[in-house]
Amino acid sequence: MLGKNELALYGGSPVIGGPLEDYQPLDHTDNLAVELVMKSGILSDFIGASGKKFLGGARVREFEKSFANEFNVKHAISVNSLTSGLWCAIGSLNLEPGDEVITSTWTMAATATTILHWNLIPVFADIDPDTFNLDIADVENKIGKRTRAIVSPDIFGQSADIESLLLLCNKYNLYLVSDSAQAPGSRRNGYLTGTKSHIGGFSFNYHKHIHTGEGGMIVTDDDRLADRVRLLRNHGEVVIGSSPALSNETGILGMNMRLGEIESAIGVNQLRKLDSAIRSRREGAEYLESLISTLPDLSAPVVSNGNSHVYYVFGMKLNLKSLGVSRNTLVRALTAEGVPGLFEGYQNIHKLPLYSRHLTHKKSNFPYSLLTKRRRNELLSLQLPIAEVLHNETFFGINWCSKAFHKKDVELVAEAFHKVWDNIDSLLSGPKP
Ligand SMILES: *Cc1c(COP(=O)(O)O)cnc(C)c1O
Repeated sequence: MLGKNELALYGGSPVIGGPLEDYQPLDHTDNLAVELVMKSGILSDFIGASGKKFLGGARVREFEKSFANEFNVKHAISVNSLTSGLWCAIGSLNLEPGDEVITSTWTMAATATTILHWNLIPVFADIDPDTFNLDIADVENKIGKRTRAIVSPDIFGQSADIESLLLLCNKYNLYLVSDSAQAPGSRRNGYLTGTKSHIGGFSFNYHKHIHTGEGGMIVTDDDRLADRVRLLRNHGEVVIGSSPALSNETGILGMNMRLGEIESAIGVNQLRKLDSAIRSRREGAEYLESLISTLPDLSAPVVSNGNSHVYYVFGMKLNLKSLGVSRNTLVRALTAEGVPGLFEGYQNIHKLPLYSRHLTHKKSNFPYSLLTKRRRNELLSLQLPIAEVLHNETFFGINWCSKAFHKKDVELVAEAFHKVWDNIDSLLSGPKP
C-alpha cells in the first residue's frame, strides 16, 4: 500500500487534487465597455493620413489619457502589442544600421528582435543572480564605440536598477529604453517602474496582470520621441510629406501598430483594476514565501532595495550540490503533486542561432556584416555565465499570473513543496520496488 506521504510522482495521491482557479482580471464590467463600442459601430477610428484621426478614435485617446494620468507620464501612446511598441520605441531613437544596443539575455524574445528589426546589433549582457535584471557592471563591460542605447527589461515583476543604468547613459551618451511588460504598477524608490527611462512600455497580452487580448502602451516624457512613436505607429511617412513642421524628420518608415477601439475600451476598464490585480499577486506570493522559507537549499524571490514586486513570476533558485537531486526531478515531483505553472530555467536568448551565429538572412549576415571582424568575433564567442548556470541548472519559477492563487491555493502549493522536500531521500533513491 502507498501511504499518504508517498510522492505522487511514485504513485501516491497528489496534494492538489484538481486544477486551481485561473487568474482572470476580466469581469462583467469589461463586457459593458465592449457593448458600448459595439453599439457605436466604430471598432477603429484611425486614419493613416494627416488630421485628427491620425491619432486614433475616442477610446484610444481615452485609454492613453487615463494611462498617462495613472502612470504620471507626459505621453502614453497605445499600440497593438508591446512587441509593436518596442519596435516603435527603438525606431524613435533614430539610430544607424550597425549601431549597438545592449540588452538582457533574460527577457522575452521581442526585447531583442525589435533591436535587430532596425538593423541594430543586440549585445547581450549578463544578469544579477538575485533579481535576474541586467547586471550593471556587465552592461558597462559590453559598451563599445558604437553602443547607442540600453534596453532594460524589468523581469518577473520588479524594476531593474534604473538609477545606475541612467548614470551609465549619462557617462556614455546612451538612451535607456525600459521593457516593463512584466512589472506594471510596481515601484522603485517611490516612482512607478518603467517611467524614469527615456522611453518605456507595457504589454496587455492575455498573460499579463491586466489584459486587452493583445495591446501595449509606450510611455515617455520626451516630446520628440513621443511624436516619432506616433508617426511610426501609423504610416507616418505620409504625414511627414504633408506637414511642413515635420519636414525635417528622417527615418520614419511607418507601420500599422494601431490599437482598436474595443481593446482600448477594455483597457480603460482594466486600468481601474490594476491596483487590485497587483495586490492579489503580491499577497499570494508573499504568503507562499513565508510558508516555504524554512525549506533548505531553496531561495525565494529577492526584492531589491527600494523596489516593490508585482510577481509576474515567482522565481526560485536551488542549491543543487547540497540537495543532491536534479532540478528536473524536483519540478516533476512538484508538478505531480499538482503545483501549476512550473517551468525550468528561463531564457538564454544569446544562445539562439539568430544571435549566436548571426543567422539573420539566407545569404548575408546583415547587419552583423557592418561590424569589424574583431567585434563580430567577440560577439560570436559571447558567454554569460550567471544567466547560463541559472537557465541550465538552478532556476525554476511559477507563472504567478496563470492562477488566482487564493490563500487556500497557496497553502496547498506550500504543502506540496513541504511534502517533496520531506521526501528528498526517496527522490534520491527512486521509486520503491
Ligand atoms: C509579454 C512581454 C513582451 C511582449 O508583449 P506583447 O504585448 O505580447 O507583444 C515583451 N517583453 C516582455 C518582457 C514580456 O514579458
